[in-house]
Amino acid sequence: MHPGLSSQNTALKAPPRFHVLAKPSGSLCNLDCSYCFFLDKEALYPGSRFHMSDEILEKYIVQLIEGHRSNEVTVAWQGGEPTIMGVDFFRRAIALQEKYKKPGMTFENTMQTNGTLLTDEWCEFYKENDFLIGLSIDGPRELHDANRVDKGGKGTFDKVMRGLALLQKHGVEFNILTTVNRINGDRPLEVYRFLRDEVKTTWMQFIPIVERINDDGRTVYQKGDTVSERSVKPEQFGAFLNAIFDEWVHHDVGNIFVQTFEAAARSWLGMPSGMCVFEPTCGAGIAIEHNGDLYSCDHFVEPDYLLGNVQNEQMIDMLASDFQVKFGRDKLDTLPKYCLECDVRFACNGECPKNRFIETPDGEPGLNYLCAGYKAFFHHIDVPMRMIGDLIKRNAPAENVVPMLAKMEAQWASTAGRNDPCPCGSGAKYKKCHGLRAAEAQHG
Ligand code: SF4
Ligand code: SF4
Repeated sequence: MHPGLSSQNTALKAPPRFHVLAKPSGSLCNLDCSYCFFLDKEALYPGSRFHMSDEILEKYIVQLIEGHRSNEVTVAWQGGEPTIMGVDFFRRAIALQEKYKKPGMTFENTMQTNGTLLTDEWCEFYKENDFLIGLSIDGPRELHDANRVDKGGKGTFDKVMRGLALLQKHGVEFNILTTVNRINGDRPLEVYRFLRDEVKTTWMQFIPIVERINDDGRTVYQKGDTVSERSVKPEQFGAFLNAIFDEWVHHDVGNIFVQTFEAAARSWLGMPSGMCVFEPTCGAGIAIEHNGDLYSCDHFVEPDYLLGNVQNEQMIDMLASDFQVKFGRDKLDTLPKYCLECDVRFACNGECPKNRFIETPDGEPGLNYLCAGYKAFFHHIDVPMRMIGDLIKRNAPAENVVPMLAKMEAQWASTAGRNDPCPCGSGAKYKKCHGLRAAEAQHG
């Protein structure tokens, strides 16, 4: 038991609904993506087969069900690569959900996969059991294959696209997860248009790659204040989001859903963002390893954040433990003054603690490495987000923002000087902000 864990049953301190990322194959994967921090995690369990036993699976499902005070339960499968476990493992997981569920309880099973091992059998299973699949694609072939390679170093684009075609053939619900790294980070529109027009997804997530280099040169733990050369740069990430946002807000609102933009819209409406990284506190999203070990978060699967094991302790007690509650509150309690005074804190909240390893301009530690990017992004979207917020409050369609914005931008074009501050409030000169967009649109 972790020294910070309280021994009494603290179930009522736990949130009514929580999120567990299950890693039945641990960090094992059939690919060798260059930026994958999970691969290094094999070092945590030397000699392990990385295979969740039926006994652990049953304990996990039972405790997940018992711990929920809500009728909706998400069962999230991840890796490594979870399909390595084979379809039958997940058939047993579904049977256990049915066996132990409380009256009225419903499950949503999700799985994050690289898609390379998908078959008709997998997709039939997903469809039958209403799985929501997250498929990892980093963009068109050249950008995807830059990092997402197999054990022989060969690009996996063709295999992923084959997996995608199978999901589509069977009508499986899917969304796309794209990691933003130093290579595709410079080509946002190519990535976005590929996902929208060729992959034909309507749901996208963009996850920044920030790999901290540990003292021994590896990237296993959330330690160290330098990053790998694959990591996206802060300003690059901001520019990436801004470019995609501009394309989206002028063409795709209401048809395409980008997780970060949806979260921002909720923040502008004063609602919880729905993304843990943008919430003031965290701690309700834990991770379970193949052997039943439970960790504070999927991004903190390391010895200092081991809460215990489901074979010896109840998941709900570990979730409600003093240690885990403090882990979640620390996100807020350790915010530097620079964040506390930031005008976009309501939307950013200092983002994820794993990325807080730089100093503020006045030398206080604990600022988020991506701060410059997020500041630029949240300022850039302020005007359209206010418009979208107003529309939603009036029960009008959010897509009405498209003509409203076009009208406003036409006014700016006729009144703002090239070197004036951009009227959108981004802080950049007009010629470098909306003026640049207007010029690009004019020149096709
Ligand atoms: S540590 Fe980061 S990823 Fe984990 S729950 Fe907190 S904000 Fe989310
Ligand atoms: S934008 Fe930067 S200063 Fe503002 S809350 Fe986010 S990390 Fe903190």
